[in-house]
Amino acid sequence: MTKIELFGLFADEIAAAISPYGLEKYRGRQIAEWLYQKFVRNFDDMTNLARKKREVLAENFMLGQVELQASQQAVNGQTDKFLLALGDGLAVETVLMRHNYGNSVCVSSQVGCGMGCIFCASTINGLIRNLTAGEMLAQVLFCGQRLGDAGRPNSIVIMGSGEPLANYDQVLRFIRLCHEDYCLNMSFRSFTLSTAGLVPGIDRLAEEGLPVTLAISLHAPNDALRSRIMPINDRYPLAAVLAAADRYANRTGRRVTYEYTLIAGMNDSDEQARELAAVMRGRLANVNLIPVNAVAECGVSRPDAGKMEQFLNVLRARQVNATIRREMGGDIKAACGQLRHSVLSGDDPGCN
Ligand code: SAH
Repeated sequence: MTKIELFGLFADEIAAAISPYGLEKYRGRQIAEWLYQKFVRNFDDMTNLARKKREVLAENFMLGQVELQASQQAVNGQTDKFLLALGDGLAVETVLMRHNYGNSVCVSSQVGCGMGCIFCASTINGLIRNLTAGEMLAQVLFCGQRLGDAGRPNSIVIMGSGEPLANYDQVLRFIRLCHEDYCLNMSFRSFTLSTAGLVPGIDRLAEEGLPVTLAISLHAPNDALRSRIMPINDRYPLAAVLAAADRYANRTGRRVTYEYTLIAGMNDSDEQARELAAVMRGRLANVNLIPVNAVAECGVSRPDAGKMEQFLNVLRARQVNATIRREMGGDIKAACGQLRHSVLSGDDPGCN
């Protein structure tokens, strides 16, 4: 008989699963606290349950595991990247960033990715599978455990491998689970979800009425270039994505973040900066300029620092809120999918 996975369930779902074994309803919450707050991964350590009950539970249920497969720390010592093995042996990347204002965790939502953006390592072998809510939560708890006394995860960015809106139900479940007081008790405002621009998913998210920050990967100020960089633009072109983002901003009152990955000679000219400023005019928006991390297979490189500064200044001169993303993991292959890809292809993940 295959065991039922409890890790990743809400307290009431745990209660329902264990009640046939004679456990009271309130035990669901107790077990959830062991799993999500005390990092316990075996029934034997659940000391408020009678020994007999613990044995019965162990025979019938599993408690989820992720295992560290590789890790890297950036030279600044503030950023750790982990490659975590899942139950079926596949692996995903998670990044822990320690800022002076708190800790944030960058979570993967899929193994691989089906979006096909030309500069991204996650998508090189396509989409492998969706992650479950439990597998996303496990990434955050792994980081929480690493932090130990140094703090707890304060914010979560769903910006790792995968397209979160292509795994909508599990991603929403993950966010709601983190919010529960028996789990991480995190406010919805502590979440940022980054999407390549799946319009129906953006609208659906707006209807949830949660104050989650939406980040849109834009990367280009017009359809011709955007389609070259991100094939998904053929399906959901720029105007449709922007309109959906506006609806999201109106519905939630949240400023939308636009990510613009700067690629030398492709989307970094003054003219493109002016075009981007025109696109952003009148929008409740922040533009986040991201120097592309070179991925060997992708043949892209970042503009030099002066060029990026110039791009930023063109935007600011036109009253666009814009920043260049502070680099926290460039030296550790912290860009989407890079560590996993280097392990899969047999590189030494420890070197660059
Ligand atoms: N699919 C979602 C979330 C994952 S990608 C999305 O497209 O938004 C998250 C962010 O990582 C995107 O903004 C993407 O542009 C960025 N990214 C991916 N590969 C990168 C690379 N090689 N260098 C810099 N940023 C990268």
